[in-house]
Amino acid sequence: MTSPIRDLATLPKGHLHLHLEGAMRPATLEDLAAEQGMAVPPIRGFGSFAAFAGMYVAACAVLRGEAEFRRLVREVVEDAARDGVAWVEPALYTPRYRSLFGSDEATVELALDELATAGADLGVACGLIVAADRTVAPNEAVDLARVAASFAGRGVVGFGLANDEADWPPEPFAEAFAIAKDAGLLSAPHGGELAGPASVVGCLEACRADRVMHGVRAVEDADLVARLADSGVCLDVCPTSNVLLSVVDSLDDHPLPRLLDAGVRCSINADDPLLFGPGILEEYQLCRDRLGLDDTALAGVARASLEASGAPADVVAAGLAGVDAWLAAAPA
Ligand SMILES: [Zn+2]
Repeated sequence: MTSPIRDLATLPKGHLHLHLEGAMRPATLEDLAAEQGMAVPPIRGFGSFAAFAGMYVAACAVLRGEAEFRRLVREVVEDAARDGVAWVEPALYTPRYRSLFGSDEATVELALDELATAGADLGVACGLIVAADRTVAPNEAVDLARVAASFAGRGVVGFGLANDEADWPPEPFAEAFAIAKDAGLLSAPHGGELAGPASVVGCLEACRADRVMHGVRAVEDADLVARLADSGVCLDVCPTSNVLLSVVDSLDDHPLPRLLDAGVRCSINADDPLLFGPGILEEYQLCRDRLGLDDTALAGVARASLEASGAPADVVAAGLAGVDAWLAAAPA
């Protein structure tokens, strides 16, 4: 006899760690490649972060105009609706589109326009994180932070920092994050993924992080774990990504349960489902099935994902009420 369970698709959740192009559907990648007479870029079988990053960039090549870009954004919102996401805030590196759309501002406007349209159609509230690339000189990040700041209150909710952190620590990006924070944006750099606890400390101190994307290697330092728990900083955790990029040895060894037990706020996310496979709903399911998170723990994660998000207060309040209702209802 199987025990009754609650449907994770009806648990309202925020999706906080999702790279826009990395959320493309594999079928859309195939469609767009075929339309343009391109070979389908490979999306499986990377053995290193560098190989993964190369595949990511190659997949972006199918986005050759506004129609393709809008399709990508709309499908991200459709997938969010399917997975019970009440709020999604994908991250976007705009310099990739300068030659297509003319400027970083034009790219942000296009993303925000389609997020708003699709979100209204599908009942999903949406924001955007403008993300810098840590392997590019920090003055570009300063420029992007100014762009992000100019959209504060108009859909951009946070500022991020992505790509390979092993040789590119967060400290040189302090000025960019100061600009974003002064504009009221959330600071959400990547850290504690490919580099250890020191990079999480760098995110907290140099970037004044409100959230750390990944951050899971904080578990290697007990004092840092305690500091995170006291601070309320949220770790935007992506279990399958960590397995496939060898940040953890196996899913069963993932530190998420230990971080939660220590009182660290964590959200569950998909990162780049195009390359890693599972969407956010499947990640929640994996955390239930493989990491032993019960419904109370999963509801706590969903609450954190809403409270730590860039969502407006009314969206957060409605989502939290939905989480309470989900937990209060008897399992089916
Ligand atoms: Zn990421």
